Amino acid sequence: MSAEGWEGPSFDLDDDHRSFQEVCRTFVAREMIPRVREAEAAGTFPAELWPAMAKAGLLGVGHPEEYGGTGGGVLALTILSEELAHSSGGLAITPLVSSYMAGPHLARFGNAEQKQRWLAPLLAGDVVAAIAVTEPGAGSDVAAMGASAKAVDGGYALRGTKMFITNAGLADVTIVAAKTDPDAGHGGITTFLVERGADGVTLSPPLEKLGWHASDTREVFLDDCFVAEEAILGTAGRGFHQIMEAFQVERLALAGMAVGLAQVALDDAIAHARERRTFGSPLSGHQTIRHRLATAAAELESARTLTYQAAARWDAGHPEAATTTAMAKLLAPRVASRVVDEALQIFGGYGFIEETPVAMHFRDARILRIGGGTDEVQLEILAKRMGF
Ligand SMILES: Cc1cc2nc3c(=O)[nH]c(=O)nc-3n(C[C@H](O)[C@H](O)[C@H](O)COP(=O)(O)OP(=O)(O)OC[C@H]3O[C@@H](n4cnc5c(N)ncnc54)[C@H](O)[C@@H]3O)c2cc1C
Repeated sequence: MSAEGWEGPSFDLDDDHRSFQEVCRTFVAREMIPRVREAEAAGTFPAELWPAMAKAGLLGVGHPEEYGGTGGGVLALTILSEELAHSSGGLAITPLVSSYMAGPHLARFGNAEQKQRWLAPLLAGDVVAAIAVTEPGAGSDVAAMGASAKAVDGGYALRGTKMFITNAGLADVTIVAAKTDPDAGHGGITTFLVERGADGVTLSPPLEKLGWHASDTREVFLDDCFVAEEAILGTAGRGFHQIMEAFQVERLALAGMAVGLAQVALDDAIAHARERRTFGSPLSGHQTIRHRLATAAAELESARTLTYQAAARWDAGHPEAATTTAMAKLLAPRVASRVVDEALQIFGGYGFIEETPVAMHFRDARILRIGGGTDEVQLEILAKRMGF
C-alpha cells in the first residue's frame, strides 16, 4: 500500500509532521533499538540517551522555547511517542514521563524561578523528573488520596505513600500531590516539587513488572518530608485540576505508544508470515493468517487516525478535543493488545521466546489499558459527556 505522490485532500500528516516523524524514526533506529536488549535485561534507561535525545530535539516538543523547547504541538508529541515505542515500552516511557507527563506541570504551573531551575535543565537532558499521584489505596480515584501536606514553620511536612511511580529512582525532582486540606476533597490537593535526596523521602527497590522492564517504577515513602513554601507548584488547592489538565497530553502520549507498539509487532508478524513455511506454503498463503493480518492493519489504522485526530484537535483548540482524547486512550491500547496478541500467535512458539521482540511488545502493551486512566475511567468520561 502506498500513497506516494498523492497531493489531494487527506487526513495524512503534513510535510512538517512527516519530517519530524523521520527525525524520530532515525533517532530510534540508530540510538534506541540497538540498546533495547541490554536496557531491558538491566532494568535501566541508558543515561547517555538523555543528552542525545535533547540534542535531537526530542525532549522539548511543545515546551516554551525560552526554556529550550523545540516547537511543535500535541500532534508532534503523539508522533514522537509512537516512534519511541518502536524500541520498547520501558525505553519509551522513561523520557515521556520526564518531559511530557511531569514536564507539562512545570511548564504550565511553574513560576519563572521554578522553570529556570527545573524545566530548562530537564529539556537539556540534564535533569530527570517524575510525577507521583497514585497511592496504594487511591489510583483511579485521585481525590481519595491520603498523602497529607501539613503547614509547618516556613513550609509543609509531607506524609504518605505513593505507588507505581515511574522514574522514581532516576528523578532529580518529583512532583508530589498531597492534601493541604484533607476535608476539602479534590479541592484540597496541592502539588509540590520534591528534590532528590530530600530528608524524609525513601524509595522501595524497583518493582518487578510484567512489562516496561527498562523503566524504573517504585514506591515513594514520605515521612515528614519538609518542603519550603516555594516548593508549591501552581496554586495551593488547585492540584486536582492541574493534574486533570496535564492528563490530556499524557493520555495521547500513551495512545501514541499503543499505536507504535502495535505497528512494530504487526510489521514483525507480516515479515514472519511471508518467511515461515507450513504445509508447503508461506504462512501468508493461508487465508486465515493473511485475513488476521489485514484485520490488525485495519484496526491499527483506525486507532492511529483517531489518535492523530485527538492530537490535532488540541493543537487547533477544538471544543471536543477531550472527548476524542478519551476515545483514543480507550481504543488505541485495546487495539494494541489485540494486535500484539495476534502477532504473537502468528510467531507460534517463537513468539513466546524472549529472543523474539514480539514477546516484549506483548507484555509492554498491557499496561497501556491501565496507566494514565484505565479503560473504565475513559468510558466513564465518555458516558458523562453523553449525558449519563
Ligand atoms: C508500570 C506503571 C507505571 C505507573 N506510573 C505512574 C506514575 O509515574 N505516576 C503515578 O502517579 N501513577 C503511575 N501509575 C499508576 C496508574 O496510573 C494507576 O495504576 C492507574 O491509574 C489505576 O489505578 P489503580 O492501579 O489504583 O487501580 P484502581 O483504581 O484500584 O482500579 C482497579 C480496577 O477497577 C476499575 N475501576 C475503578 N473504579 C471504577 C469505577 N468507578 N467503575 C468501573 N471500574 C472502576 C479500574 O478501571 C481498574 O480496572 C503507574 C502504574 C503502573 C502499573
